[in-house]
Amino acid sequence: MISGCFLKKPLFGLIIYRMGMAEKLTDTYKHKGLRKNLVALLKEKGISDENVLHAIGTIPRHYFLDDIFLEFAYSDKAFRIGAGQTISQPYTVAYQTEVLNVKKGDLILEIGTGSGYQTSILACLGAKIISIERIGSLHEKAKIMLKDLGYKAQLILGDGSKGYAAKQPYDKIIVTAGAPSIPDVLLKQLKIGGIMVIPVGDEKQQTMISIMRTSESAFEKIVLDEFKFVPLLGDNAW
Ligand code: SAM
Repeated sequence: MISGCFLKKPLFGLIIYRMGMAEKLTDTYKHKGLRKNLVALLKEKGISDENVLHAIGTIPRHYFLDDIFLEFAYSDKAFRIGAGQTISQPYTVAYQTEVLNVKKGDLILEIGTGSGYQTSILACLGAKIISIERIGSLHEKAKIMLKDLGYKAQLILGDGSKGYAAKQPYDKIIVTAGAPSIPDVLLKQLKIGGIMVIPVGDEKQQTMISIMRTSESAFEKIVLDEFKFVPLLGDNAW
């Protein structure tokens, strides 16, 4: 088990600022029980990496959702987070994280911060994260959330389809929006031995692809399962 996958601050009474209003969020026994059930469901669906399951069981997903969805925070569904975007389904988050085979200290580039939930899962696993989001309101909200949870991640506002050259090469790259093709620039920013996970397809459906860089010029591609993501928009995307 990766040590350090715990919440950095005591949760009870943690004040979180959402949508400009201070509200008190607590992680109750009920929430913890619901998370336990979610972990059991993800196991049934085929997630087997104990570190990933532990992280899902640790991070309070209800903190990342708007009030109207709180009741459903631990159902295995995607939900709207504003600006036409979604927090990914827990199964999808667990699946992509498992494919990445995250090691403590890995430098990970995440494209599509969204709510910051996936970022928190990676941080919980001990990764160093650079996460890019193109929508200002989501970027700002995620920054506050990560800070309040006590996780360090560099959150950047911009077009992640161009990658982030300043901190390359990356041990891992995760793209959390559907791309029309694999951007070359992202492949170039991967370390030799590094892994990228990216959903590629049309607007309706995408295939999850795992790519390992095996040398300066060679990449090994594995075609995985079908998913449905919001589109990756940008210079090297839709
Ligand atoms: N993983 C996120 C979470 O846990 O909440 C959900 C990500 S959501 C499915 C996809 C995100 O990718 C959206 O927030 C969207 O704005 C963002 N996105 C789309 N194209 C992007 C781009 N070129 N650069 C950065 N972010 C992008």
